[in-house]
Amino acid sequence: MARYRGAVCKLCRREGMKLFLKGRRCLGDKCAMEKRAYPPGEHGKRRIKASEYRIQLREKQKVKRTYGLMEKQFHGYYELANRQKGITGENLLRVLETRFDNVIYRSGFATSRQEARQLVRHGGFIINGHRVNIPSYRLKLDDVFGINPKTKDQVRIDRAIEVNDGTAVPEWLEIDRKNISGKVRSLPERAHIDLNIQEQLIVELYSK
Ligand code: SF4
Repeated sequence: MARYRGAVCKLCRREGMKLFLKGRRCLGDKCAMEKRAYPPGEHGKRRIKASEYRIQLREKQKVKRTYGLMEKQFHGYYELANRQKGITGENLLRVLETRFDNVIYRSGFATSRQEARQLVRHGGFIINGHRVNIPSYRLKLDDVFGINPKTKDQVRIDRAIEVNDGTAVPEWLEIDRKNISGKVRSLPERAHIDLNIQEQLIVELYSK
């Protein structure tokens, strides 16, 4: 699956908010948003008129970039969310939150979604006793996940847990950081998803 390979801090600066794409660095004063909280490029500091389309587009880009997805894949998730019952914007976030790489990140077993994706790809985790190396795999209610006893990434995972020590775990997950395991306690509701975005703007954008 294709992925963005450019400078990720520029993405945060473009969106005007921290997207937490670089792990430990995002938490310190080396974060580019702490020093240059304006869009990148020669005209970055210039004021741009915010049209309705632009606001909707930026909201979509924020979510897409937060989860590290390319346009085609993100649009596929939107189509899926739109076919489900309920509020499309909330469905979309629920679908994205239950991706395996995101669950590993939210559990504190990786410092960023990108690292979580690598760890999953390397076969570092299992779901219900089976090795799953597909970052986009979506977990279901009551799924149990944990470290693969055969992983070669144990040190990296231990380090991530150390960095994430004390960070909150979403209510919909039950996490045992000591044993590097967890369970999907319930499917995430909007109130449980820590994302400062207005998802209905994405729905409006794609509904045009
Ligand atoms: Fe974004 Fe992290 Fe870079 Fe800060 S350090 S700009 S939060 S990716």
